Amino acid sequence: MPVPLTLYDNYARALRPFVPLKPGGDVGLYTCGPTVYDYQHIGNYRTFLFEDTLRRVLEWNGYRVKHVMNVTDVGHLTSDADTGEDKMEKGARRTGKSAWEIAQMYTDAFLADLKLLNIEDPTILCRATDHIAQQIAFIADLEKKGFTYRTSDGIYFDTSTQADYGYLARLDVKGLEAGKRVDIAEKRHPTDFALWKISPPGEKRQMEWDSPWGRGFPGWHIECSAMAQLYLGDFFDIHCGGEDHIPVHHTNEIAQTEARVGTHLANFWLHGYFLLLNDAKMAKSAGEFLRLQSLIDRGYDPLAYRYLCLTGHYRSQLNFTWDALDAAATGLARMRQLFFALAIDPNAKPDELYVERFTDCVNDDLNVPRALAVAWEALRGDLLPAQKRVTLASFDRVFGLALERWTPREESIPDQVKALADARATARKAKNWAEADRLRDALHAAGWEMEDRPDGYSLKRKS
Ligand code: AMP
Ligand code: ZN
Repeated sequence: MPVPLTLYDNYARALRPFVPLKPGGDVGLYTCGPTVYDYQHIGNYRTFLFEDTLRRVLEWNGYRVKHVMNVTDVGHLTSDADTGEDKMEKGARRTGKSAWEIAQMYTDAFLADLKLLNIEDPTILCRATDHIAQQIAFIADLEKKGFTYRTSDGIYFDTSTQADYGYLARLDVKGLEAGKRVDIAEKRHPTDFALWKISPPGEKRQMEWDSPWGRGFPGWHIECSAMAQLYLGDFFDIHCGGEDHIPVHHTNEIAQTEARVGTHLANFWLHGYFLLLNDAKMAKSAGEFLRLQSLIDRGYDPLAYRYLCLTGHYRSQLNFTWDALDAAATGLARMRQLFFALAIDPNAKPDELYVERFTDCVNDDLNVPRALAVAWEALRGDLLPAQKRVTLASFDRVFGLALERWTPREESIPDQVKALADARATARKAKNWAEADRLRDALHAAGWEMEDRPDGYSLKRKS
């Protein structure tokens, strides 16, 4: 019997057996999506890949996952302390387009990248700007219940009303209060945060809405509490994001939801740890960042980046280097070639022992690096080729490397070689074995190997 699924819950700071809240096999998963003021970088995609792997592991365990992802297209300020400009308006200025145009443009770019990385589409992708009414209703309810106060620039959440504020991040609230390192302006406590920002008088923002508190826009955290509640209910199974979300964004989502409905939003809180570049967090706002397109421009397959991410555990930071990407690209190429060469037998079944070992790995808090090692062992071991193929194909439901979709690139095969191979296939069909053998020898002499397959043939360079 394989081990049951265990996940590291950052709220409990412990490994916990995963048991869905509802009987019947449905699981609710909310993952914080992109802020669409610029392209996402490969660091962001490390987190999205971890979340995709989590979803695939849940599916591997037989659960049906309702995956909700938001798109932050308003309200994310350049500083987490609720000061600075809205990233969208700033992005609009940088590009000379409207905030609405760049939101659409970068959302489209994000979705195209998800396809390239073979990340499954979320069940529901929800934009913050499409849910202003729900956010206003949420804030109005918090106001009615006495958790908010007003300043000259907005409505703020009073974090001192929550006895366990900051529990997720184990925040030292008293220390922060005493230090008051940050300029908190009219805020009552350093940890208080904006629920609604009122547009400054005389200033017309591109994205603003009427509200009971005046024309303005929602704070960043409220969108996730409001949309998670709308689509998944008051308390759902798993909430994810990158590790930077622990001390502010997720802490504040929990505070709002706890104040409104009394739950800490999700039963499990999982976080993907950073991708580093030169030992510093890869970030859009600072330093160098690489887009997926930057890797494609250098000739890498996006799935080589996926493979690289599979080689590191999601709870450890990963330092990006081109050498590491090269090694991942080589590993993926080798795996694809070996897999492609395996015979197809529709009656073959995955090997139970390997499946059990694989499940033990992925169920151990998504130990995908070890699962990858098991896959390599299966590929190199002594199972029958057709059984290797179905075993690997089943593992690939978790890896997402699209092994079954891959074929060697036709264009790299010279015309004469292709002509010899076609002629040999025709000779074989006509049972003209002598001619077929002669043509195969000619192919060998040209440095190529041909393998007959039920759907034709494949060619590869002689190793
Ligand atoms: P953003 O577009 O900034 O809202 O970020 C989208 C997702 O990427 C969030 O879950 C972030 O926590 C995550 N993220 C941001 N930077 C990194 C990084 N360097 N490595 C891994 N994840 C990141
Ligand atoms: Zn969020």
